[in-house]
Parts: sequence; C-alpha cells; structure tokens
Amino acid sequence: MLIIQNAKILGATQTQDILIGDNGRYLEIRPGITPEQIPGASVIDAKGMLVAPTFVNTHMHFDKAYTAIGGRESSLETLEDSIRIMQQIKRDYTVEDVKQRAVRAIRECVMYGTTKLRTNVDIDNMANLVGLEGVLAAKEETKDICDLQVVAFPQEGIFCNAGTERLMWQAMEMGADIAGGMPAAEWLDELKSKHVDLVFEIAEKYNCLIDMHIDQSKDMFDRTLEYTAWLTLQKGWGGRVTGGHCTSITYQNQSHAIKVMKLLREADVNICTNTQVLAIMGIDQEPRTRGVTRIREMVDMGINVATAQDTICDGFHLYGTGDPLDYGLIGAYTAQYNTPKTASQMFDMLTKNSARIFAPDESYGVAVGNVADLNIIDAPNVQEALRTRASRPYILKNGRVIASYTKSATLL
Ligand SMILES: [Zn+2]
Repeated sequence: MLIIQNAKILGATQTQDILIGDNGRYLEIRPGITPEQIPGASVIDAKGMLVAPTFVNTHMHFDKAYTAIGGRESSLETLEDSIRIMQQIKRDYTVEDVKQRAVRAIRECVMYGTTKLRTNVDIDNMANLVGLEGVLAAKEETKDICDLQVVAFPQEGIFCNAGTERLMWQAMEMGADIAGGMPAAEWLDELKSKHVDLVFEIAEKYNCLIDMHIDQSKDMFDRTLEYTAWLTLQKGWGGRVTGGHCTSITYQNQSHAIKVMKLLREADVNICTNTQVLAIMGIDQEPRTRGVTRIREMVDMGINVATAQDTICDGFHLYGTGDPLDYGLIGAYTAQYNTPKTASQMFDMLTKNSARIFAPDESYGVAVGNVADLNIIDAPNVQEALRTRASRPYILKNGRVIASYTKSATLL
C-alpha cells in the first residue's frame, strides 16, 4: 500500500491524502489518511504539489524518431519535402535500428510522465513491414512502463502506393492495434473517399479504433474530415474515430467550417491537433500561418480536442522532446490560449481528452477505483506547470513509482 499525503489533486480546492492499494488502484481519497491507520504502507509527501493523472500522448511516429539526429537538410521545409526526406531514410530501416530508436523515444516520453502512448508506423512499399516489426519489438520491451497502441499508417497513401492495401491487412494480422489513414496522399478526391472506406472496413473486421491523418493541408477543398465524420455518424462509432491535424478546415469559409464542426460534434469524432509540428512546418508557402486546426471553436462547441507530440527529431521536425508540458506550451501559444481557464483546457488536451481518444470505454483520472497512474508536479496549478515545464518528482504507473523528472538551474 502507498499513501500520498498533502496532494493538491487537479481540480480540488484543498489538499487531500491518497491511499493506493497493492492492486495498483486508488482505494481512498480524503484528508486525514495517516501511516498509523495503514501499518506497513509506504508514504510520499506531495508537499501541496499538483497531483494529476499521467499524460496520454496519442500521436507519435516512433519508427521515425531520432532519424534527424545527424541533421535534416531541406531547402523547402514543406510537408511534402518532409515526406520525401523520410522516404530515403525508411528504405534503409532495419528491425533492430527501428526498435532501438523506438525504445529510446518511448522511455523519454515515460520519463516526462506519459504512460499511455499511441504511435503511427509507416506501412508502404518503402518501409514494407520493417518499421512495424521494430516498433512491435519495442512495445514488448517497454510493456512494464507504458501502454502502447500501434497504428498501421499508410503515410504514402494506399491506392497511389502499389502493394500498400495488402500490407495494411498484413500489418493488422501482425499485431497493429489501430487502423490508420492518410487520405490526402491519394491523387484523386474519389480515391481519398475510397481510402477512408478501406480504413473503416479494416476497423470493422478487427473491431478496432480508427486514427487517421486527415486534411493536413491549407487546401480549403480537402473535405475528407466531413466524409469521415459522416461515416462515423452512419455507423454509430462515436468516440472511436480520431482525426489528426485536420488543418484544411481552418482555411474553409466560416459557414462551411461551422457546418463541419457541428457534424464532428454530432458524430463525436475526436480531433488531435499536434500543434508543435504544424507550427514549424508552415505549412507551405506564404502567407505562413500557425497551420493548426480551429482549436478554440472546436473546444467551445464541445468537440473532444487533444494534442500530442507527433514527431521527435525526424524528417518532419528537428526538435521535440516528448514532454507534454513542452508541446502543451506550444499548443497554448498556437491556440492563443492565454488565460487560466484556457491553460486548463490545454492541460485537459494533454490528459483526459487524450485518454478518451486512447480508450473511449475506460475510466481515467485520480478517482477511487481507477488505476493509479499519476504525476506529482512541482507547480501550484496547471498554468504554472506549463509556464515552467515543471519538475515531476514522482511518476507512478499502476501505483508504483517508475520515473522522476527534475528540472534544475542554479545561480552561482
Ligand atoms: Zn503524424
């Protein structure tokens, strides 16, 4: 048993004590739990620090992580050029190379307090299934420190990349958990719809969630998001379908965009915005905008919006640490969230909104009966946590301390 004393649980007004059972679940949460009441229990003094559920990061590309450690040469710095850079790299993938880089990236994400991760893995006629094999091996090696979901992701498109349709089915047989998509890669609008149809067909066969990169462009005529929402509504798959990036809606006229957002809300499609990578990619030519989806309007309309790291030091993005407080801070900048209330909304995107994407049917959070995955964050509130990217002296998974992150600077 473990007692955490003096915990300022996210959303609570006063400090409380937390009792975690040997089964790794919260047994009691109230003021006044003492070691005398629970002989033999270990004790952590949270000293009034913020206690929040661990972060959930639902959009990663662990197969690509750290491939730009040696540099990233791009004269154009567009999405298309980033894809081209990665094409050269992934042709040289080996299972062991992918596994080692993925394990390193997973461990870094966990060290910052994330215990649930979802990664895309490229499935195409360049990487074939090598990236998947490497990431599945990394998943096995890190299973004690995090829950990892693997998305079969056709980065290069399905119908414009010969052999990918067959590879997608094979990827699911090999152990991919989630059906991914990249409809914008197809040459024709009708093929984009066919691409989405196939992803839904795969999800139906394997009874799995869907997570696609959707309309990642400034093209106001990219309309896959509304088609995906329509299919979700027709099938009654609310909460089980997630659109990543979804930037073209930002460039559509207001009346059309509002109609699409109403449909997203009606269909209960999740949106994962991934602001850090979008902001640095431009997205393409002038005028350079923040390149993110309509975060504020979607949140205010009641759509489930999350954000995630997306990539760490690869063909797309030279930076990225895997720290949710890093990409959350950039999320606040790009969403122009500049009040305590909106800072709190951004924190929700890193935690409970992402948890809903990860496992729509599971309960999550610091509450009696739930699995005790929590971070003790050295900050009085979430805006300070974001501003300082605060230390996290205790990171717990299943009621067990698995990591600690300390940020320190000293004036001599
Ligand atoms: Zn992505």
